[in-house]
Amino acid sequence: MKINFKKYLKNEWKSIPDIIQMIHTMNIKRISFVAIGLIIFELINLINKIFNEHLYVIIGIIVLCLINIIYVIITQTLHKQILSNKVLTKVAFLSYWIFIIISMSPFLIYDIMYKSNTPLNITLLCALLIVIPIFERLELFVIFLSLLSFNIILMVIYEAPINFIIYVIVIILASLFVSNFVQYQYIHMIVQLNFEVRVDYLTGIMNVRGGMDKVQTILELTKRQNTSIVLYMIDIDYFKSYNDKYGHLYGDTVLKSVAKAISTTFTRISDVVCRYGGEEFLVCSVIKNSHEAEMMANQIQKNIRNLNIDAPNKTISPYLTVSVGYVVYNAQFDDYKSDTNINTLLGIADTALYKAKNSGRNKVESYIMPLINP
Ligand code: GH3
Ligand code: MG
Ligand code: MG
Repeated sequence: MKINFKKYLKNEWKSIPDIIQMIHTMNIKRISFVAIGLIIFELINLINKIFNEHLYVIIGIIVLCLINIIYVIITQTLHKQILSNKVLTKVAFLSYWIFIIISMSPFLIYDIMYKSNTPLNITLLCALLIVIPIFERLELFVIFLSLLSFNIILMVIYEAPINFIIYVIVIILASLFVSNFVQYQYIHMIVQLNFEVRVDYLTGIMNVRGGMDKVQTILELTKRQNTSIVLYMIDIDYFKSYNDKYGHLYGDTVLKSVAKAISTTFTRISDVVCRYGGEEFLVCSVIKNSHEAEMMANQIQKNIRNLNIDAPNKTISPYLTVSVGYVVYNAQFDDYKSDTNINTLLGIADTALYKAKNSGRNKVESYIMPLINP
């Protein structure tokens, strides 16, 4: 299914904290692996240089190794604490790269002093920055621009030749470009997958997972702003008979038509329409009063009736009908807000639905919560 990526990213990216948390976990783990790799690489470097190199190179290597060892120990032992705190996660991630950038400086100086044609260590660092996807664009730019500016200062101080300076600038900018592209691709993939798991394959409306997340957000907002919402549970009457009489494929087309009819009844950006189960749908809408809720319930029935789908069992109507149970929640009158959650509302709407079914189907039943007249 295709999505409007830009719009989705803007609205939804921040509402998928579980996925963002997963990315951070992945990044912190990757950095630990990279850190171990760097330790091994630089220790081999140290053994190579220990007898014939300048002291600052040796000190630089030791400092880099120490930073990496400390980082691995911290991230491995305080893993849970770091990840449970957003700020700490960001600080751990950014500070690591800044330390690495600074502690790599002896190698750059070494490359300049010994007139090496290729700044090998910077190339290695850039490769690592591409391997670990940085998901926040701001973080990406902070890291790469720190790397660029810090190295330009060092190259000017140590009077690096112009072709060396150009090489370093080009490699850093090229890596920034590639890293930015990799980041974009990852985000694109995550957003698309996130979208797929929240959409019902058959009807194209949200599935229960996507719907519940949205209703949860709306309920929290309603409680904070002391407004009112309505939660409808809609169940197709005698749906099993459609399958029995016309087959499941026809049953599927009926489901699609009903989903479409409900979606076109609720078109506000804040409305949530989802497939709750087999032939049950859930709708959540912000309302001004219970009269509006009643009007919309009748509208749902009317729009489904207007589909003119023949009822297989014509005992209650010649056309397809639905039963609707709903609950109106007025947050301004709720003295026990902290006890009211999505399951409370679902339970009441469900009771209303069963009442509608038991009173003969093709009916609307409702409850007002809390039980006073607004
Ligand atoms: P009631 O009026 O009491 O709601 O009767 P009902 O027949 O609608 O309810 P029941 O729960 O007995 O049957 C629901 C049926 O919905 C059973 C199942 O075969 C059908 N169903 C569930 N999901 C799908 C689906 O994705 N496609 C099709 N074609 N049928 C489905
Ligand atoms: Mg049912
Ligand atoms: Mg049914």
